[in-house]
Amino acid sequence: MVIDNPGIREIGFVRDESSSISAFPDIDALASQCRFSNCTHTCEPGCRVLEAVITGEIPARRLNNYIKLNNELNYTRERHNKSAARVEKERWQHISKKLKNLKHRKNQQ
Ligand SMILES: [Zn+2]
Repeated sequence: MVIDNPGIREIGFVRDESSSISAFPDIDALASQCRFSNCTHTCEPGCRVLEAVITGEIPARRLNNYIKLNNELNYTRERHNKSAARVEKERWQHISKKLKNLKHRKNQQ
């Protein structure tokens, strides 16, 4: 799937969401017409995107690439959020440690 589509490799590593989503404007348009707001467009009966694959509006391979890319983006985003949360936590640990030291020093005086 990745090998026979030279564009997808670069797209997969693009972090800017807006530019990667525009790589599949046809599917994005169908997805916005989908009746489910939190649809994954993979197995939901009545999904507009799946319907388009069934009727041949879009090739199944293209939807596969779309889903693959979305998964990759979600993973990147999740990882990014997690590391951001960890940085924030460490920051607070550092601050509370400083405060503790400060109190300790005050008590000694
Ligand atoms: Zn859908």
